[in-house]
Amino acid sequence: MALIKCLECKKEISDKAKICPNCGMALKKKSNIILPLLLGIITPILIISFFLQSESESEFDYRIDKSDNSTSKERKKSNSISKTEAAYSAQKFVEKQLKAPSTAKFPSLNKANIKKSNDVYEVSSYVDSQNGFGAMIRSNYTVKISRKDNGNITLLDIKID
Ligand SMILES: [Zn+2]
Repeated sequence: MALIKCLECKKEISDKAKICPNCGMALKKKSNIILPLLLGIITPILIISFFLQSESESEFDYRIDKSDNSTSKERKKSNSISKTEAAYSAQKFVEKQLKAPSTAKFPSLNKANIKKSNDVYEVSSYVDSQNGFGAMIRSNYTVKISRKDNGNITLLDIKID
């Protein structure tokens, strides 16, 4: 048993003592305390992070599986386009052809006439917009569109009178 000096009261006490018998200060034995302390902190962190990691990985795998399923399901839905989406896409394609797209006034989407044959949608409606002379004129249009395998709607034909 060796004697050490108490850091607080500087009196000599046993190095085995946990508390100084003179001043009551808890004795810190660095080499003896810090290593178990570090192990006690680091080990749970390593274990927890390992579990968190494996958990998020499996969650990620699950997400990939899910998205694969949904895309393959969408593909099986045979490239269909809803009436609203068809009418809206047609408006966008028509807008690009106009001299003054910002002046374009379309009727509501449900007023568009939509014919479907196979996967081709023919959308007929009209648009009011300014012509080259700044006068508002009404143009009838017919737009043919279809959905590509990648999901995008593509323009097949456009006629604006
Ligand atoms: Zn002391």
